[in-house]
Amino acid sequence: MPPIYERTMHRMSNLNLETGIRLVKSVGTFEFGRESLGVLDERVEASRRDAGSRGEPSYVVYLVDAFFQEEGGVLERLDVQPGDRIEIVETDVEPTTDAVDRRVEQLLDADISEPATLVGIGGGCTLDTTKAVANLLTNGGRAADYQGWDLVKVPAVHKIGVPTISGTGAEATRTCVMTNVESGLKLGMNSDYTVFDHLVLDPDLSATVPRNQFFYTGMDTYFHCLESLSGIFRNAVGDAYSREALNLCRQVFRSDDMMSDESREKLMVASYLGGCAIATSYVGVVHPFSAGLSVVLGLHHGVANCIAMRAMSNIYPEAYAEFWEMAAIQGVDIPTGLCSELSDDDYRALYEATVIHEKPLMNALGGDFRDILTHEKVIGMFQAM
Ligand code: NAD
Ligand code: ZN
Repeated sequence: MPPIYERTMHRMSNLNLETGIRLVKSVGTFEFGRESLGVLDERVEASRRDAGSRGEPSYVVYLVDAFFQEEGGVLERLDVQPGDRIEIVETDVEPTTDAVDRRVEQLLDADISEPATLVGIGGGCTLDTTKAVANLLTNGGRAADYQGWDLVKVPAVHKIGVPTISGTGAEATRTCVMTNVESGLKLGMNSDYTVFDHLVLDPDLSATVPRNQFFYTGMDTYFHCLESLSGIFRNAVGDAYSREALNLCRQVFRSDDMMSDESREKLMVASYLGGCAIATSYVGVVHPFSAGLSVVLGLHHGVANCIAMRAMSNIYPEAYAEFWEMAAIQGVDIPTGLCSELSDDDYRALYEATVIHEKPLMNALGGDFRDILTHEKVIGMFQAM
């Protein structure tokens, strides 16, 4: 089969995605390096001072991944002062608009509307929850009102991101992904206001991640960048970020130990660069199929991407081979057989939840992607997973 690019060039007249870069909002400031968690207190203190100098309250809200409630030694290292609040973020279910709304309501009920800063410490679920809460505290309304592009009207509460697992790039992007259970829509608040003001990138924090999870989430960077670089709608900046992020992913996942100190450091950089890449480009075929698995079967994003890869041998042949080689080197398990015996309704739902992602599918397959991804073909791909 010829490369996707050649196959789809003739269809470009049907398309209207952007290939240029207009105005890119990046993370305000960040620090990177082992033990950089040690400087978090200073950053938080600076936010307290800034708020105080404006005559605003100086309390802080920490949103912390539930893992650290008992383990990980992070809570103990926070300079929690009277009036501050610690919110635990459970990750059994990925963020929903309802869950975000409930959290905001609880904060408002407790008279917490103007923290000096929100600090999100955790994986994609926690970082996205932090971003969404920060937007809602200043904008009012409900999370679903802002799912889409540039719907957030005023700047969010100041926010600091501290990723503890690498791969989603959520630390760098201008979105916060939430599922709207009612409408079945999995979409974020895409806005410049969603971008973190500051990041603390400390690779020591990811040492406690279980191996399978480390691979599933880490591979999100690989997929983001592979899909962008294989797409029709590209730009030089996105390509440059993607190429280096992929290069780092290969170094990590082809090494003897993806979780060595050196590898965790590289993956944290890759994740950040991958987030920057995806902020200026589009994903491709893996993500829509993965979203189908998440929306219909409730699978988490990272593992769903890896499962979707089982059906990608014709679409991304080289990456398909490389992916399975890396999974074998690292000795991780990728679940299988989850879609072999579903009801017709479930298959229909999977199809719908996949082809709804028009932009990435156009980017990968061209404007006539529905001619390639017929109902039958899509169901066959899910059954092959
Ligand atoms: P996650 O936040 O669900 O975390 C995965 C698991 O790892 C959880 O069980 C968590 O408790 C655990 N964990 C995290 N850090 C740990 C640590 N240091 N030690 C031990 N366990 C730890 O998973 P994720 O893959 O990082 O994030 C997935 C979410 O990110 C999805 O909701 C997805 O939609 C979203 N996402 C967002 C963007 C974006 O740009 N905003 C991009 C891609 C994905
Ligand atoms: Zn992803």
